[in-house]
Amino acid sequence: MEFRTEYMQDLMNRVVKNHPAQPEFHQAVKEVLLSMEPVAEKNPQYVQAGIFERIVEPERIVIFRVSWVDDNGNVQVNRGYRVQFNSAIGPYKGGLRLHPSVNLGVIKFLGFEQIFKNSLTGLPMGGGKGGSDFDPKGKSDGEIMRFCQSFMTELCKHIGPDTDVPAGDIGVGGREIGYMFGQYKRLRNEFTGVLTGKGLNYGGSLARTQATGYGLCYFTKEMLATRNESFQGKTVVISGSGNVAIYAAEKATQLGGKVVALSDSNGYIYDENGIDLDAIKQIKEVERKRIKVYVENHPSAKYTEGCKGIWTIPCDIALPCATQNELDGEAAKTLLANGVIAVAEGANMPSTPEAVDAFQAAGILYAPGKASNAGGVATSGLEMSQNSMRYSWTFEEVDEKLQGIMKHIHTIAREAATEYGNPDDYVLGANIAGFLKVADAMYCQGITY
Ligand code: GLU
Repeated sequence: MEFRTEYMQDLMNRVVKNHPAQPEFHQAVKEVLLSMEPVAEKNPQYVQAGIFERIVEPERIVIFRVSWVDDNGNVQVNRGYRVQFNSAIGPYKGGLRLHPSVNLGVIKFLGFEQIFKNSLTGLPMGGGKGGSDFDPKGKSDGEIMRFCQSFMTELCKHIGPDTDVPAGDIGVGGREIGYMFGQYKRLRNEFTGVLTGKGLNYGGSLARTQATGYGLCYFTKEMLATRNESFQGKTVVISGSGNVAIYAAEKATQLGGKVVALSDSNGYIYDENGIDLDAIKQIKEVERKRIKVYVENHPSAKYTEGCKGIWTIPCDIALPCATQNELDGEAAKTLLANGVIAVAEGANMPSTPEAVDAFQAAGILYAPGKASNAGGVATSGLEMSQNSMRYSWTFEEVDEKLQGIMKHIHTIAREAATEYGNPDDYVLGANIAGFLKVADAMYCQGITY
C-alpha cells in the first residue's frame, strides 16, 4: 500500500531520513501512518498539535554496555537497550528481548507497536521495549544469571514501578525475570512491581505465562465468529515453540482445533494426527532443547530443516508466533492457495507488508499482532494492578478478565474500522483505536514531549 496524502508521505520520508538503516522501524511506522491518513483528515487538531510527528519519535532511548564473565573466565561484552517510546497514558511498558538479531531499529519497531497495543488493552500503560544482542542459546544458567545481573545493574537506573515496567519477550522468560528482579531489589532495596512475568511466589500473576497464547485464540475466536466460524474441527499451523506458541496451541486445542505443526529457529515438526503438547512442554520448558528431538519419540511426526516450509502445510488457521517478517508474500500465497481462512499474529509483525496485502486482498480474516497478541501485556497490566493492591487473583479471575479484554479489543478495532472504512480491516481498526486514546492524552497534556 502507498500513501495517498502528501502530509503523511512527507512525514514518512522524514522518518526514513532521520532514522537511517532501521528497516523494521520504517515498516512498523509506515503501516501505522497509512492507517492515519483518514484520522488526520477527520481530526485537524491532531495535525495542528504535531501529534503524528511526535508519536513517531521516542521520548527517550538508553543504550548501554553490558559486560559479564562467561564460564571459561572470558569477558564478554553486549549492548543493552531500552526505548521509552511514549508515556502519554501510563508508565512505559513492554518486554525485553535477548536475541542476536536485536539492534536499535528492532527495539524501536517493537516499542512503537507497543504504544498502540498497550492502548488497545484499555489499561493505563505507555509503550516501551528493550533488550540486548546477547544470545541465550547454549548458555549455562550461571552465564544467563551473570548477564541478567549486569544488564539490570544499568537498567535499574532508568526504570521503576511508576516509570517503566519491563517484562519478557523472545529469550526472556521466568528464569531471566527472576534474576533481573533479584538484582533490582538488591540494588534499590525495594520490593516493587518493577517487572512483570515474575514467579508466582514473588508477585507474579497467575495466567501470565499462558496469556499471550490464550489471548491470541480468544481474539481469533471472536474474529471467526463474525463469519459464523470457530476453531472446532479446524487444522491449525503455529510457528514458534516459545511461550506464545505453546499456549496458543493449548488453547486452540481446547477450543476444538487440531494443531499439526510447530517450529523453532532451526526447523519445523509436522504431525497430521496433532502435536503432543506435553512432550513439547517437556522439551522446550524443562529440557530447553531443540524441537527436532520431538520426532525421536513420535514416529508419526516429521522434522524438516528450515522454518519457512511450515507455511506450505495446508491449514484452516495460521498463527505465526515466532518472530518479525517470518511470513512473506510467497508464504501468504501458498497459505491462501491451500484454503486458509484466518491468520492471527502471536508474534510482533510476523507478516511482511506483501503478506498482509495478500491476505487482505483475498478477503480472509487477518489480525495484526498489536491486536491479537495484546493478551500478554494486558495480563502484565493485571499483574501490576495486583502488585499495587498487594493481592493476587485466582487463575480463573485473571483468565476471565483476559477474555473480556480480548473481546473488547476485537470490538473497538471493528468499530474503528467500520467508522473509518471497512469493518473487516483489523489493521486499520487496531491502529486507529489504539492511536486515538494516546493522541487524545497527548493533546490534553500539551506540548511537553
Ligand atoms: N513482550 C510482550 C509483548 O510483545 C509482553 C510485554 C509485557 O508484558 O510488558 O507485548
